[in-house]
Amino acid sequence: GAKAAGKDQLVLYDRRLREERLQRTRTVERLRGALADSELLLHYQPLVRLADERFVAVEALIRWQPPGERLVPPDAFIPAAEDSGLIVGIGAWVLRQACADAAPWHQRHGTLLSVNVSPRQLREPDFAAMVRDALAASGLPPQALILEITENVLVDAGAPTELALGHLNALRLAGVRVAVDDFGTGYSSLAYLRDLPIDHVKIDRSFMPDRATGDPRLPLVKAVIDLANGLELGTIAEGVETAEQAVLLRGLGCERAQGWHYARPAPAAEVARLLAAGRRAPVATA
Ligand code: C2E
Ligand code: MG
Ligand code: MG
Ligand code: MG
Repeated sequence: GAKAAGKDQLVLYDRRLREERLQRTRTVERLRGALADSELLLHYQPLVRLADERFVAVEALIRWQPPGERLVPPDAFIPAAEDSGLIVGIGAWVLRQACADAAPWHQRHGTLLSVNVSPRQLREPDFAAMVRDALAASGLPPQALILEITENVLVDAGAPTELALGHLNALRLAGVRVAVDDFGTGYSSLAYLRDLPIDHVKIDRSFMPDRATGDPRLPLVKAVIDLANGLELGTIAEGVETAEQAVLLRGLGCERAQGWHYARPAPAAEVARLLAAGRRAPVATA
């Protein structure tokens, strides 16, 4: 009957939860090994200044290469790394590696480096010191580094916000810049943009319109760009996939863009060639 069926469902649900928990534990164990065995690597995605479409920055994006398996994207392991606290060690590795890779790019081309930072990392008392160490070890000047944080970092209920704020304030005094990543996807208020120690707003890719007229995302993306410009914050559009979108964003007063239209994330050697060329590879014509 219905009651028995309901009970079966509960048993199934319970089994699935246990299965998921086990899976998470396994991922964490394998990830711990991955960090120790150097199975983590960084790809970089170049960003352009929309005024002249030249590459001005790169974002470091982590990947995991288990031997003999497919490359694992960050969405498949960063959540487990955050839950387990492993992100602290992983994040420190990312900063060191990214600063080391980007130092010569900055020296040759003035390229800036963007690095993603998890909320969990900003709760570590020595976060700012760790960043300064990575900069000093690589020779990358603090002015060349942008830390990408998400909207929830500083407004999360119960989080020691003061510690995170202290880190960001100290690093900004040293010249490091801060960007709010995935802007528009969280629940924070507009006042947040005015009050927090930030320099750039990265507009989430879910706001990218695919038509120049009649797209319901148009007024939203325009409002965010106007707001950021009014507060004298830099603007970066994520997920720019077409020339039409690039033209549109430039017209709306957006400063920088990142997306497949310009370049996909790629290994350091490949990115070094793109940066030397200065702009995206010309589209082959028949
Ligand atoms: P994110 O910081 O918002 O990074 C942008 C994501 O959009 C990247 O995905 C990038 O490959 C993708 N992307 C770039 N251009 C386009 C485009 O034109 N179209 C589409 N559809 N996608 C585009 P990826 O590399 O898979 O990274 C996913 C997320 O993982 C990142 O989102 C970031 O939140 C996180 N992540 C990556 N590396 C790190 C890291 O070192 N530390 C931490 N804490 N998180 C990281
Ligand atoms: Mg990012
Ligand atoms: Mg982003
Ligand atoms: Mg995003």
